[in-house]
Amino acid sequence: MPRSRACHVSLQPSAGSHGELAGLLLTRAYHEDRGDRRTKVLTPDTAHGTNPATVRMAGYEVVKVGTAPDGGVDLDDLRAKADDQVACLMLTNPNTLGLFDSNIEEIAEVVHGVGGTLYYDGANLNAVMGISRPGDMGFDIVHFNLHKSFTQPHGGGGPGAGPIAVSERIEPYLPRPQVVERPSHNGEGPVYDLDHERPKSIGRLRGFQGNFGVFVRAYAYICSLGGDGLREASETAVLNANYLRALLAEEGIGEYLPIGFDRICMHEFVLSGRGAKRELGIKTTDIAKRLLDHRVHPPTVYFPLLVDEALLIEPTETETKERLDDFARVVREVLEEARRDPEIARGAPYSTPVRRLDEVGAAKRPVVRQRPPDAEAPGDPERAGQVTGGAL
Ligand SMILES: *Cc1c(COP(=O)(O)O)cnc(C)c1O
Repeated sequence: MPRSRACHVSLQPSAGSHGELAGLLLTRAYHEDRGDRRTKVLTPDTAHGTNPATVRMAGYEVVKVGTAPDGGVDLDDLRAKADDQVACLMLTNPNTLGLFDSNIEEIAEVVHGVGGTLYYDGANLNAVMGISRPGDMGFDIVHFNLHKSFTQPHGGGGPGAGPIAVSERIEPYLPRPQVVERPSHNGEGPVYDLDHERPKSIGRLRGFQGNFGVFVRAYAYICSLGGDGLREASETAVLNANYLRALLAEEGIGEYLPIGFDRICMHEFVLSGRGAKRELGIKTTDIAKRLLDHRVHPPTVYFPLLVDEALLIEPTETETKERLDDFARVVREVLEEARRDPEIARGAPYSTPVRRLDEVGAAKRPVVRQRPPDAEAPGDPERAGQVTGGAL
């Protein structure tokens, strides 16, 4: 593999999904520049939900590719679906099961073979910083979330950043303006300038160059860790995930929460709550809610979709061995308690300011403004048109 490869970036996209949209607009511009109009984008069935949503937004048809028994892309299914209408394959590697797909070079060959681009959903780089490079794996376009791997706090509505990097053949289409280096007039070293003269560009994606404050934080983090430090963060994240995976596979937990795909994982792994549901009559939601009473932040639940009653566990590099041991102990306690009395977990949480929230309502009818109780009088003109329901 070549160790050095030209790479071009745009900092404009402000979220992972925004980077995905940029990537598909770049893909369209690339094909149309060749007089080629393509209609389909392939996404594996393990993909993050934003992938198919972005594909639709960009005006393409979503074509799902199946998962092989080892948790990677089903190559036969990929070959069957790769044709000259495929504009792009969007892939996360390691995928959302936390598994690295070692067939990546073959996958790249199939997609490039039909003229498609390869998009790396690099939202979460926690397993691979300083270890593998998307360009070496054959990817043409990548986004990475500064609010996942580079310390920007995640959630609460942002701000985030999902910069993109692209290979040589995609470069002419990058958002404009691009930051360029020019010789200075007085001969005193190069100066930076904004290049607006980019005729093939997909245009501007947002104001300025993106969320500047987020870049400063991420850059400070990168500088303070250095290349070796970033690599160590990834290695520790992978070690922590595998340690916890092995702990949770032990007797008393593994039979209720079997692992979805049983092999060495990267930064995360997925358990299935199907055993707990069948044997104890409690669902993954109940386990997650009961963890709150033990002051443990529950892992992601019900994602990825192809694992029944999924619990997606990503300890990251910041957890100590003591905290990982403690997490396993609490999970075991919750399961043992449910064996005696499943009603306790079904009614949890008990110690939080609010109990079970209307999560569907919160997603569909968000209330994004907190108001004092006296402003809630009926007929209040300020309230007219305000959407209610859900949670803050
Ligand atoms: C978080 C995530 C995204 C979406 O990123 P946003 O910033 O939330 O839009 C996409 N893909 C993967 C794999 C992710 O983990």
